Amino acid sequence: MLGTLRRIVQEVNAAPDLPRALQLITGRVKQAMDVDVCSVYLVDSSRDELVLMATEGLNPESVGQVQMAFDRGLAGLVAERAEPVNISDATLHPRYEYFPTTGEERYCAFLGVPIIHHRQVLGVLVVQRSEVYRFGEDEVTFLITVASQLAGGIAHAEASGGIDGLGDHEPGAEAFEHRPLQGLAAAPGVAMGQAVVIYPEADLEAVPDRQARDPVAEEARFDQALVAVREEVESLAARMREQLPVEDLALFDAYRMMLESDSLAGKVIDRIRAGQWAPGALRQTVAEHLQVFEAMEDPYLSERADDIRDLGRRILVHLQQHTPAAPEYPERVVLVGEDIAASHIAEVPPDRLAGLVSMRGSRNSHAAILARAMGIPAVMGLDNLPVGRMDGRDLIADGYTGRVYIAPSDEVRKEFQRLVDEEEELAAGLDHLRDLPAETGDGFRIPLLVNTGLVSDVSASRQSGAEGIGLYRTEFPFMVRERFPGEEEQAEIYRAVLAAFDPRPVTLRTLDVGGDKALPYFPIQEDNPFLGWRGIRITLDHPEIFITQLRAMLRASAGMSNLQLLLPMVSGVAELDDALVLLHRAHRELVDEGLDVGMPKVGVMVEVPSAVYQARELAQRADFLSVGTNDLTQYLLAVDRNNARVADLYDALHPSVLRAMVQIVEGARAHGRPVSVCGEMAGDPAAVMLLVGMGMDSLSTSVSSLPRVKWVIRSITRERATALLAEVLHYEQPGAIRQRLNTEIEALGLGGLIRPGK
Ligand code: PEP
Ligand code: MG
Repeated sequence: MLGTLRRIVQEVNAAPDLPRALQLITGRVKQAMDVDVCSVYLVDSSRDELVLMATEGLNPESVGQVQMAFDRGLAGLVAERAEPVNISDATLHPRYEYFPTTGEERYCAFLGVPIIHHRQVLGVLVVQRSEVYRFGEDEVTFLITVASQLAGGIAHAEASGGIDGLGDHEPGAEAFEHRPLQGLAAAPGVAMGQAVVIYPEADLEAVPDRQARDPVAEEARFDQALVAVREEVESLAARMREQLPVEDLALFDAYRMMLESDSLAGKVIDRIRAGQWAPGALRQTVAEHLQVFEAMEDPYLSERADDIRDLGRRILVHLQQHTPAAPEYPERVVLVGEDIAASHIAEVPPDRLAGLVSMRGSRNSHAAILARAMGIPAVMGLDNLPVGRMDGRDLIADGYTGRVYIAPSDEVRKEFQRLVDEEEELAAGLDHLRDLPAETGDGFRIPLLVNTGLVSDVSASRQSGAEGIGLYRTEFPFMVRERFPGEEEQAEIYRAVLAAFDPRPVTLRTLDVGGDKALPYFPIQEDNPFLGWRGIRITLDHPEIFITQLRAMLRASAGMSNLQLLLPMVSGVAELDDALVLLHRAHRELVDEGLDVGMPKVGVMVEVPSAVYQARELAQRADFLSVGTNDLTQYLLAVDRNNARVADLYDALHPSVLRAMVQIVEGARAHGRPVSVCGEMAGDPAAVMLLVGMGMDSLSTSVSSLPRVKWVIRSITRERATALLAEVLHYEQPGAIRQRLNTEIEALGLGGLIRPGK
């Protein structure tokens, strides 16, 4: 059964659109379960009803015609209960409802299971038999497994517009405007534009569908690639002739035959003539062949799938050599890809780049860091994005909430345009705050610093009125290179940042790779990277890397006294002690070498739960603490900060996170050490009221959030913030806390800061 299941899921996921996917499901399931009928009903959320979308066994004319509310019919019962319904004689059931167009009256046995994605019922999968019969446990669990495996694919297909054209639905994407895709908010702002898909080269599966700009030229390009591959195969065969027995050389005959056959080249050309660009036409045709080969039971024939895959890849490589270098970028580009890298961003003319949407990555991926530095909205970690079908589509990417709207309706578009206008107005209105101090109504100064990781970001940071850099993520200069940067190379980078802010403090964090931050030249393979070799654990294990970085930081600070060091991922005092030993060694070495460098202040990031409970001991040894709420939230709540599937559970306003933060402040106070916040929470205006209430000494946030945070600080008194914190610490749920904070924001007259989705 497992083999059958796997094959069904593979085939369905490879289907070009939703109608064909549904048709495949019904056909394959009917055959595998040996039933008389298999049908799929999907939920039409705009009308709260189920629609029959595909059937094998019922009257095909009834597709799109049979519609039922959740409180009607047996399929409705499955959707209503969100659980399987197994009835030996459906005609006797009180919820049985007869739809004359279906010809259903002949069937007695009924088994329906819900298709559920992210707690939401998307539809119902039904099998029926004519005789009175009760489906066995194996059959029920098989159908449940099929439905659960297909739910994600159906959600994809719906989101990419695949539902178009079936039943009596209006064509268009209005079915999805209420159901945007949810990713991770990675860089603030709203991007409205047209998707341009970027994809890795020589990866046939990653090639997106795209309209051919000039089908005649595309066809010629494909012909050229075919000729080149034919020559390649000939020369491979000639080379192998000496070494291989004749029977094995037959492989090359198979290649030749495939290259010459109409079923490959002919079909690709048909698709090009129908308007698809050559790589897309090749991908579709190869996928079609693969399906046929992989479905074959004969192991020899199913192995041929590898040959066709290899051939496809070879043709693609040649096609890509002849690909016009830069695609024609539309006016407003939303760059979309499976894994967007900083180099991709650099390829788009900056005046056209409206936003980024990436399936992988997080707010801390360097693409996101770069996006924030450039002021470009980004959504990352959108793991159910149908990338291959996105090219050229209108998109709205909401970098505040992480939502992406595909082919948004006019109403959605207007609503977002209004938001964009309001944001611009708000930003302009906050301009005057730039040179005013971040001081509460009752006279408490809370210096605002910025988070950065790019030298190019520094001038924007300075102009923002920031009082220093609270977190400089040194990973970035490490990530964009092909080897570890040397001491002088690093020193130069750090010097530029220190000099730009001198005498204001610049907090350089030592290397925090591992987790989701990989260096291409230092791969780490782990099952559980966030609980693995990360941050200070790596640098302590590699003193040669750590000392080089520490020396570079100290050297860079020569002649200045604004350097502060920050140690990431500290989980106990031993790590801090060990790091301090190495720091003192690096310092002594430089002094011995005749350099005039002072010892910087050393801070510890409190971002691991164990550090919360040792805040006091850490504070005793360090000069300051800085709360990394991004990781602290992830580790306290056991929610992967990059996993869109559990993103709803990730909330820094969780009562446990707030209580932990209060405890950190108490630990710091016990030794008179200052404590700051440098996680994203410090950029959330509502949360900032609580941070003021906790008595945080300074906050560090991205440049774009700084004016709003300052506005909140200047609008509230410490007294009011303290009372607000005391009140919400009694609340049990993050949602209730968020609501209370929003009410407070409104009461302070800062309603403009509350964004939809917050
Ligand atoms: C944090 O964890 O809150 C933090 C600031 O560090 P990073 O996001 O770089 O892990
Ligand atoms: Mg962190």
